[in-house]
Amino acid sequence: MKNDYKILGFKAGLEIHQQLDTHKLFCECPSVLRTDKPFNTIKRKIHVVAGESGEIDEAVKFQGKGNKDYFYQTYDTTCLVELDEEPPHKINKEALKIATEIALLLNCKIFPVTQIMRKTIVNGSNTSGFQRTVLIAYGGFIQTSEGKVGIDSIYLEEDSARPIEKTEDSTTYRLDRLGIPLVEISTKPDLKSASQVKETALKIGEILRSSKVRRGLGTIRQDLNISIKGSNRVEIKGFQDSKIMEKCIDLEVERQKMFLDKNQKNPSEVRNCLPDGTTEFLRPIPGSARMYPETDLELLHIKKEFIDEIKRNLPKLKNEIEEELRKQGLSEEMIKLIFKGDKLDEYKELYEVNGNPKLISKMLLLLPKEIAKKENKSLEEIEELLNKDVMIFILNAVYNEKIHEKDVKHVLEKICSGVLFKEAIKLGKKDFDEVEEKILKIINEKPNLSPNAYMGLVMKELKGSITGQEAMEIISKLMK
Ligand SMILES: [Zn+2]
Repeated sequence: MKNDYKILGFKAGLEIHQQLDTHKLFCECPSVLRTDKPFNTIKRKIHVVAGESGEIDEAVKFQGKGNKDYFYQTYDTTCLVELDEEPPHKINKEALKIATEIALLLNCKIFPVTQIMRKTIVNGSNTSGFQRTVLIAYGGFIQTSEGKVGIDSIYLEEDSARPIEKTEDSTTYRLDRLGIPLVEISTKPDLKSASQVKETALKIGEILRSSKVRRGLGTIRQDLNISIKGSNRVEIKGFQDSKIMEKCIDLEVERQKMFLDKNQKNPSEVRNCLPDGTTEFLRPIPGSARMYPETDLELLHIKKEFIDEIKRNLPKLKNEIEEELRKQGLSEEMIKLIFKGDKLDEYKELYEVNGNPKLISKMLLLLPKEIAKKENKSLEEIEELLNKDVMIFILNAVYNEKIHEKDVKHVLEKICSGVLFKEAIKLGKKDFDEVEEKILKIINEKPNLSPNAYMGLVMKELKGSITGQEAMEIISKLMK
């Protein structure tokens, strides 16, 4: 049976961590993940101490137990900052700019002055034992079909080291990920159903991708805080994508209901989402005793001119771009393909060369697939041959009336079979003219047949050199 979220008093808040596409946050090392052999491995231990308030955090106590060894793998793309043997450098301005841009897109207010903080981390994933994090914005919102969702806070912070291997008494981390800039976006606990959680995650994801963020597996992480009336808050981590979210939420609500049915409060804890949507215990929820100021760095001023400059250049959101493409005359299907194939930047560049949206989208999205199929090659191979320079060359040829739009496919085919550009233009045009001539001859030899009858005759004679759709287009043109 589906859960009735309203009756259960369901409340949830989403926390999204997204890596930014720049060098690291507090040093100049590049944000690259390495798969080759490390240059060096060093060993450290971690000791539990009290926070500034004098208390030891619950999560700290839990994970500081035992006498574990921590190994850190270093590379030529990591430096002494990642090893915590050198103070942090000044905060990465580009990362601050991107985070501010994201905050503005989420309708947040920006703090003019703010303090970079240290957040105690005791699982060894930071060589220093803390993560640097800075609150830059608050009080935003996004709209969903189930109502407005408040954005509580936006932090800019450094990513942790990457766990590589765990044994009973040691963990090995790779320092390549440590220090990559992350934005952390937290919504208010405004989410009232599993479907609203999913919609919010997708919307924020879309906004993030309109900014300069890293793409691909592991570059975005989503955590969820869930409670129902009478139960404690549980944090769930490790959603690889939004698909599993709804199922996981339903199962967690069932789990919390089970505790309430037995008149027990469920423990406030952090749980990990497994691929099937069930969860497992990870650790207790960390308290507030784990933040203290980063004394190695000055107060961070986010100046009005800096914010105004970002405001003037805010990127367009996906629905605005879709609307623009629609106005240019592209079909819904083409618009979908542009986003799916990640071809928007290329499309825009080609549009500057020759403002023919239909031809450009056909060249980018349909013809490479057709040619790959016909030539029995992979799409990647064909797309490499038909790179942006080739596309620009062809579009210019159409613009200067050296070839007609209908010749484009044949010219591209010639280029893929290794013919030089200029030669391809001549040949492609000639081939197509010849095809048209042959079809005209067929029509003239047997006048007054139906288009379908001609189609049969044409395909029989020209099999292989033309597709059915192309044949039909030429036949109807010639029969007019
Ligand atoms: Zn570094």
